[in-house]
Amino acid sequence: MRVDRTALEAAFRQLPGVDEVLRFKRVAGIAGRTGRTEVTALVRRALEGLRREIAAGELSVTDLKERLNAGELAARVEALFEADSKRGIRRVINVSGVVLNTGLGRAPVHAEVAQRMAMAASSFCVLEVDRISGKRNRRDDHLSSLLCRLTGCEAAIAVNNNAAAVLLYLQTFGQGGEAIVSRGELVEIGGSFRVPDVMTRAGVKLVEVGTTNRTRIDDYRQAIGDDTGLLLKVHTSNFKVIGFTEEVAMEELAELGLETGVPAIFDLGSGLFEMEGLTPLGQFGDETVVQAAVKSGLDAVSFSGDKLFGGPQAGLIVGKHKAIEAMRKNPIYRAVRLDKTALAGLEGTLQLILDGRGDEIPTRQMLRRSADELHETAKRLAASLSELPTFQVEVAADRSQPGSGSAPDVFLDTWVLRVTSSRFKPDALARELRMGEPSVFGRVQGDALIVDPRTLLDGDEAGLIEAFQALDA
Ligand SMILES: *Cc1c(COP(=O)(O)O)cnc(C)c1O
Repeated sequence: MRVDRTALEAAFRQLPGVDEVLRFKRVAGIAGRTGRTEVTALVRRALEGLRREIAAGELSVTDLKERLNAGELAARVEALFEADSKRGIRRVINVSGVVLNTGLGRAPVHAEVAQRMAMAASSFCVLEVDRISGKRNRRDDHLSSLLCRLTGCEAAIAVNNNAAAVLLYLQTFGQGGEAIVSRGELVEIGGSFRVPDVMTRAGVKLVEVGTTNRTRIDDYRQAIGDDTGLLLKVHTSNFKVIGFTEEVAMEELAELGLETGVPAIFDLGSGLFEMEGLTPLGQFGDETVVQAAVKSGLDAVSFSGDKLFGGPQAGLIVGKHKAIEAMRKNPIYRAVRLDKTALAGLEGTLQLILDGRGDEIPTRQMLRRSADELHETAKRLAASLSELPTFQVEVAADRSQPGSGSAPDVFLDTWVLRVTSSRFKPDALARELRMGEPSVFGRVQGDALIVDPRTLLDGDEAGLIEAFQALDA
C-alpha cells in the first residue's frame, strides 16, 4: 500500500495533545494512583505507539477516529500502567521443566538458607570482623574453611559469579602473557560470555592448541614458553563434541602444571558434588565432580554457586594455597567479591551438605524426582484442572532438562500436562499465565502448553491451580 502523505498528516492531526489526554477521566484516575509525572510519561508512550502505527500505514484516519471515540487512548494508558506495575522481580511458579532456568533466577535456595540470607540483609552481621579479637578479618574466611572441608582443597575464594572467577584467574596469572586453551574448549557460555573475548579483555593472549575434536597433553607441552601464564581447561557446558574425540584428562594437565611451574586451572562450570550423605544425581555421568577435580591436583577449579550446587549466585574457586592467595592479592578481587547475603547463603548451603542434609537442597530434589513420582503429581494436577471447562488436559511422557548449560546432553524422564483450550491459543495462554497472579511459566510445544511438575517447589501446586482457575470462563 502506498502511504499517502496528506492522509498521514490528517491522521496525525486527529491525535489529541498530552494535556488533553491527561484530562480524560480514566487517565486522571490513574494519575490519582501513581502521580502526574508517571502518567504523563505513559500518555506520551501511548501517543507514540499510535503515531508509529499511523506512520507504518497500519491505521487509517477512519479507523483511528473510531478507536479514539471508543476510548482507545485511555485503554492504552491503562494497559501500559498495568504492564508496568507487573514488572520487576517477583515470585514465579516454574513449570518449564528447566530446573536451572537462567530466566527464572537459576537455583532457588533452601528455605533455611533463605532465612539466613534475609537475616544478613536486614541486620548488621559478623562479616569482616573476628568475634574473639574484635579485629578485622576476611569476609570469606569461614566459607573457605567449609569449602576446604567439603572438597579437600587447601584454600578457597568466592566471587560474584563464575564468569568473575574466570576473569580473576585469567587476569591474575595471564595478564601481559599467554593462556593455553584447547581449540575444542573455546566456548560461548551464553549471555555472550565467550572465553576468547574474556581473555582479550583480561589482557591475556590466547594460545589455542589441538583441534576442535582432539587435543593431547603434548599439544599443551609444546606450546609452553616464557610468556605462558596459565594452562586453562574449560568445561564445554552447553555443547558436546561427539565421535572421534580426545580430551586432556585433568590429572595430566595438573601434572604438566606441576612439572613446568605454570598454574593449571579448570573452569568446571556447574559444580556437581557427590559424596557420602548425598544421594547421587545418577544421570550426570559426564559432569566432573568437584571433589575429583580438586583431587586431580589442579591449582584451581571454579564453578557457579547457583547451578548444580544449588546455592545463591556466586563463583567459587577451590585449589592450592599459592594460587588462591595470588588471586586474593589481585586488586580486581575487590571489584568482584561477594556481598554479605550471598556469603550467608553459601555458608548455609555448605553447612546443610556438611550436616548430611544436602538431599534437601531444592535443586538436587528437583533433579532426583523419579518419573513415577512425577506421573502421580501430573495425574493429581490433571484431575484438578480437568474440572475447569476452559481447558483440556492430557498427561503425557516428556523430558525435563537440568538447564544453564549443566549437562547439555542429559534429559530427565518426566510426565507433563499438555493443556489446550478453545479460548486461548497456546502462546496467549502462556502469556496470560506469565502475567497472572501467581505468575506461572510453562513452555509452549506445538499446539499445547506444557506444564512440567518437575520444577514445582513445595506449596506450588495450589498456586498453579489457582492460576488456571483465574483464567477459567
Ligand atoms: C555457567 C558457566 C560459566 C559462567 O558462570 P556464571 O556463574 O553464570 O557466571 C562459566 N564457565 C562455564 C563452563 C559455565 O558453565
